Amino acid sequence: MNASITKLLTAQKIDHERLVLLQALTKGSVKVELDKANQTIVDSKKNLLQLEADAKNLKDNYEKVSKIITETLALVKQANQAQSQDMGEYGDYLSKLSILESQLADIERKIMEKSSAFKNATVSVVKASDFVKKNLPTYEQQKQQTDVQVKALEKQFAEATNEVDEKLLAKYKAARKSKVGDVKDVLVPLTADRRCQGCYMDVPAAITSKISADGWALCEECGRIIYKA
Ligand SMILES: [Zn+2]
Repeated sequence: MNASITKLLTAQKIDHERLVLLQALTKGSVKVELDKANQTIVDSKKNLLQLEADAKNLKDNYEKVSKIITETLALVKQANQAQSQDMGEYGDYLSKLSILESQLADIERKIMEKSSAFKNATVSVVKASDFVKKNLPTYEQQKQQTDVQVKALEKQFAEATNEVDEKLLAKYKAARKSKVGDVKDVLVPLTADRRCQGCYMDVPAAITSKISADGWALCEECGRIIYKA
């Protein structure tokens, strides 16, 4: 096996440790719960803004309907005073009043609903903010520890790859960078049945000859480095 490949394989083990540490940090329960709480804060705040706008519209409507009721009551009073013979007109006012009053009751009911939703959303923001406040230090402590370990591993990786062929190392780093959140190896052996161990696709003859000649080649399917085992 190519000496650079042997060294890079050792380095890859160190790199894998680094990736696992980073994954444990970002997918750890504290971080997941913090992300959830932060999302709740964002969603609830958006909800509160909408509820505020809804409440304002309802209040405007309430005032509008109240005003019409006052006007209609004045008309009823007038009709009463004039002892209008037109009972039809009087009846119209009364039925109009009854419709308006049920509209007003409906608006009141909606205002109550919005007000209760507003309270709930406010409680959600407070609870989620408390959670973030309580748990952020734990996460930050975890992150600090991880950062220290990651830096040490990066140093080890640099040392282990000191004598690795520059082009191969650059390809390794590029392949690694392109697989964010993936801890699977990017330097993989060609299997006996000529498949890439990364994506399990058949490796075309042109690539297998390149692997035979140079010791390694890039997988056309997944971008990993396939080496001659
Ligand atoms: Zn592949």
